[in-house]
Amino acid sequence: MAKNVKKGKIIIDRERCKGCWICIDACPNNRIEVDVSLNKKGYFPARFKETVNEGEKDCIGCAQCATVCPDVAIEVYRAK
Ligand code: SF4
Ligand code: SF4
Repeated sequence: MAKNVKKGKIIIDRERCKGCWICIDACPNNRIEVDVSLNKKGYFPARFKETVNEGEKDCIGCAQCATVCPDVAIEVYRAK
């Protein structure tokens, strides 16, 4: 990864999430997965992959996930 590429992270409000998983398809770096436990509404919410395993790309804070989320459940943070 180029040095000047900013890294980011997201926080998903799992109780607000309706489990549509649009964000999973939207993330260019495959940083979002389906959670293994249901939320209070009875959906399997999206979950941010905190750990970057070998060969995986980190979150770049591009906010594509937050842009497509119909329930405004994702907040994006970028490293300075
Ligand atoms: S797009 Fe939003 S509502 Fe849909 S799975 Fe992702 S966080 Fe949940
Ligand atoms: S901000 Fe971009 S890279 Fe990070 S999880 Fe969302 S879509 Fe993926």
